[in-house]
Amino acid sequence: MIARVTLDLAVRREFDYLIPNEMESSVQDGTRVKVPFGSREVLGVVTAVLAESPHANLREIIKTVGVHALVTPPILKLVRWISEYYCCAPEVAMKAVLPDSVRKEEEGWRERLYVRALQPHDKLPKLTKRQEDLWSIVEEWKELPLQELVRLAGTTSATIRKLEDKGLVSIAPQISERDPYAKEHILPTNPLELNDEQSVALKNIIKTIDCLANSKDHGKGIKGKGVFLLHGVTGSGKTEVYLQAIAHALEQGKGAIVLVPEISLTPQTVERFKARFSHGPLQTLVAVLHSHLSAGERHDEWHKIRQGRARIVIGARSAVFAPVEPLGLVVVDEEHEHSYKQEEAPRYNARDLAVVRGQQEKAAVVLGSATPCMESYYNVQRKKYGLLSLTERADEKNMPIVRVVDMRNASRKDKGMSIFSPQLHEAILQRLEKKEQVMLFLNRRGWSSSLQCTECGYVAECPNCSVSLTYHRSAQQLMCHICGHVDSAPSKCPEEHCGNSSIRFSGLGTEKVEAALDKSFPSARVKRMDSDALKRKEDYRRILGDFRSGKIDILVGTQMIAKGLHFPNVTLVGIIHADLSLHIPDFRAGERTFQLLTQVAGRAGRGDVEGEVYVQSFTPFHPAIQYARRHDYIGFYDQEIEFRQELHYPPVGRIALLTLRGRSEDRVRFFSDHLRKEMDILASELGDVVVAGPAPAPLLRAENFYRYQIMIRTPRMPQLSRQLSAKIDLLQIPDDIRLIIDIDPMSLS
Ligand code: ADP
Ligand code: ZN
Repeated sequence: MIARVTLDLAVRREFDYLIPNEMESSVQDGTRVKVPFGSREVLGVVTAVLAESPHANLREIIKTVGVHALVTPPILKLVRWISEYYCCAPEVAMKAVLPDSVRKEEEGWRERLYVRALQPHDKLPKLTKRQEDLWSIVEEWKELPLQELVRLAGTTSATIRKLEDKGLVSIAPQISERDPYAKEHILPTNPLELNDEQSVALKNIIKTIDCLANSKDHGKGIKGKGVFLLHGVTGSGKTEVYLQAIAHALEQGKGAIVLVPEISLTPQTVERFKARFSHGPLQTLVAVLHSHLSAGERHDEWHKIRQGRARIVIGARSAVFAPVEPLGLVVVDEEHEHSYKQEEAPRYNARDLAVVRGQQEKAAVVLGSATPCMESYYNVQRKKYGLLSLTERADEKNMPIVRVVDMRNASRKDKGMSIFSPQLHEAILQRLEKKEQVMLFLNRRGWSSSLQCTECGYVAECPNCSVSLTYHRSAQQLMCHICGHVDSAPSKCPEEHCGNSSIRFSGLGTEKVEAALDKSFPSARVKRMDSDALKRKEDYRRILGDFRSGKIDILVGTQMIAKGLHFPNVTLVGIIHADLSLHIPDFRAGERTFQLLTQVAGRAGRGDVEGEVYVQSFTPFHPAIQYARRHDYIGFYDQEIEFRQELHYPPVGRIALLTLRGRSEDRVRFFSDHLRKEMDILASELGDVVVAGPAPAPLLRAENFYRYQIMIRTPRMPQLSRQLSAKIDLLQIPDDIRLIIDIDPMSLS
């Protein structure tokens, strides 16, 4: 027999190998194998087992890795879909579906040598000083990994063996399961009684799970293809619906995947799921997959799923590939989040893959959000998805009152110097007096966004990127937020002929807001939370913990504080500069702003006191701001879809973005022109696509690479993808130029 193998090598094609007789039974679709390639040995995944091959002189598989096939047939199918739809090589798609720690050859649980203290029969034997120190550590720990002991005691394993010789310790291999949540203490919870809207939502999802399970014809004939948009305001009890839907899937003998954005994968979130399924007849392990796990933890979590011990998976983007079998339900929470899109190859969107996977495996899919992306709501309108609405907060709290402050007036009076409008200033004072808490949000870190000379107009710019440098006062540095370049901050204009000493920092960052708070509210305890303030992994949890326990009065931060956090004593939220995200050159700017404002506003009033939100803006009548003020998603959608329709932008049309980058702008431009001609040919073949560009990318230069873009719009992406792949394969791309194909891009910069 013959195995077709996708190698872990960038070769853009698959190779055939002979399966030696003794391996016939262990080589299947999805088996990981080691094979010869030229003079090397390379790992790969079997994607098909065939009776014959069109190629002659095949070489043999060297060995198989692991007992089970690591890539299950449904995941293999998904890999093929990704490779086709996102125009990427099979090995690139394959790389995404297995964590690195699982891909590696030394498969299996980590067996580690453990040292265990034994009770000495009589008196302690005579020990050297060194052995005595060592013994006291082992005695205290009772049992610990050998390597850990070597590190703790600053000794060698030879010394530890001496203790073994003397009968004081035993050293033996042991499987050590790494549980990232081992230290959490979790109290079991029971299902809540649902309100009417929640009940309707749950009933529909349950019905679909059952229908799909019973259908033999791959879901054909089932109304709304098994995908639901759960549109529910913050606090409307979406999570409770997920939990009860998962319980139903488990009852049917099926598993579930819950995707959440990395940033809201907090211990709080994980705990809610673990707590519900930690006891009772549906008891199961809940595996957690996210980027902060160690390689070992990820390996163990993944295998718990593969072995069927963890039937629920909660994780960020890549958890969409978790080998849950059989799969009954996929939940994508905060489905509008841009972080579901992977910004490196394969450039997939986990939300969209969840829908594809659901269809392939006959699982129900629930996309949840308070502010669904335009794409999902459009699919509801076209009857591709079913709509489930939760219009009220489950905890019967009112939505916060949102007040928009026109900063054009405030800045005129104050000569543009005010950070807090008089209204926001007053509101903060009042809340502080009542011992309530305040969150202030500004989506830019650093002190100021740029440094400009008032005489000659000089602006400090990054030498590598086409952006101005941000001033960070605490570090006394100018910093590029694209490439990380740092410069010392000049005290006078560095232009030779100028030298003006009244150089000005303009624009606003979180650092400056923090300083202004300290000055205006000297008795308040203020803390800043952005990526500059978080130096270590634990900082995030510590600051949030301090805020929760009331050790902080005002928390100021970037979008890091916008999502999913729940603080009952926060009654006031201030958005310092709501326009920031409106002025980026992207057709989704309005949508982004609407989502962000709604999310941030949702942080207020989650406790007993009604919440209040101040939105400071220089364009207070912009629809994104006004509809957010009224909590009116449908209103926003209706006016936004008109604009998308006019320009054939998503969700009405689909986009493929081709970006070319290289060190020489002339070369990039020249090759872009050539590519445009090729795309025109493709357009004439396909008929319904529109090609635009090449044009310089909004960020022309990043990390010293020039970037040009060609945008292709189509109503039918799968057809375009296929043709595009074929064209690009034939194209001779020069070595000094890279072509990046982004299907359904989330960012156009
Ligand atoms: P969402 O996921 O939509 O933001 P949550 O599921 O977190 O909402 O619910 C918000 C709060 O309301 C939580 O404290 C939750 O325990 C509570 N809650 C949810 N559903 C109910 C219900 N049916 N009855 C009472 N409380 C509920
Ligand atoms: Zn830079």
